[in-house]
Amino acid sequence: MYDMVCAMPQASPADLASRLLDWYDRNARALPWRSPPGAPPANPYHVWLSEVMLQQTTVQAVAPYFLAFLKRWPTVQDLAAAPLDDVLAAWAGLGYYARARNLHKCAQAVAALGRFPETEDELRALPGIGDYTAAAVASIAFGRPAAVMDGNIERVLSRMFAVTEPLPGSKPTLKALAAKLTPDHRPGDYAQAAMDLGACVLCPWRPDCEASHQGIAESLPAKTPKPERPTRRGTAFWAMRKDGAVLIRRRPDKGLLGGMMEVPSTPWREDLGAWEIAEAAAHAPAQADWRALPGLVSHTFTHFHLEINVIAGLVRKPELALGYWCPLDEIKTQALPTIMRKIVRHALSKAY
Ligand code: SF4
Repeated sequence: MYDMVCAMPQASPADLASRLLDWYDRNARALPWRSPPGAPPANPYHVWLSEVMLQQTTVQAVAPYFLAFLKRWPTVQDLAAAPLDDVLAAWAGLGYYARARNLHKCAQAVAALGRFPETEDELRALPGIGDYTAAAVASIAFGRPAAVMDGNIERVLSRMFAVTEPLPGSKPTLKALAAKLTPDHRPGDYAQAAMDLGACVLCPWRPDCEASHQGIAESLPAKTPKPERPTRRGTAFWAMRKDGAVLIRRRPDKGLLGGMMEVPSTPWREDLGAWEIAEAAAHAPAQADWRALPGLVSHTFTHFHLEINVIAGLVRKPELALGYWCPLDEIKTQALPTIMRKIVRHALSKAY
């Protein structure tokens, strides 16, 4: 029935799928991007936008962003026609800005096609759409029986089938199980139900759940331990002009926070500790008598912690500075990522 190397439940895939759908009919969460259980599929633009936003972010955090995006750009064509900086600014706070840039590129590709493609393969060919989003859009928006795998589904399947091999090595096994279980009937509702499954007490698969029977549910999915996050350190320059404007600049398109605006800083280095003012000044985008502001700005990215100390100064020759002089009252409307907003807040509270 399953042809897998893991513990097998008595129930057939069809039986498990239909039990899960019944459960979903009674327990589906109402979410702004969802259509109710059994109803015609949701708008592909809504499904795609929410799925991109939900990667690595919670439903609670995404809901206001999703509604704000739809209000401002009601169709994928509207989003495609928006200036990239507006999209990046509206995205600020959701993190992973490469996703926002890809979101914009993808909207343009879909607008050029005139519609969202319906199959996983065609969807995967669009910018920023990986296996997960392609399967989610194909199943939820177009009713295709695509096997969707997100973090929750990985957890549920590894418990249900007592898959003890650690992630990410167990991914192919879990994917094959997901494919086996995904029904032809209502695959979109099935995928959303699997994303929603959480508490064992209410779980419709409990009678067949191997990990539950063996008392090992809490220990699954097993994970290969991640290396510790290192700490990088940098110095940011709060460069001021006499009229109050401050210097910002655009980061290179490639790399972390690519294409976003930033408060200029030294490189972020890992092993040499904090920067002395004199050595930092060699990287300054303008000349000034720099003074250190008290305190530190900290931020955690996926792969490292960042500690920034900020130095401030009145720039001597503003016309030679490398960047853009932003009037102070406009700084909040810039497409500044969270770390840069923290630096701005810090500088505003300490430099004046
Ligand atoms: S019974 Fe609990 S551990 Fe097993 S599949 Fe359901 S929610 Fe997961």
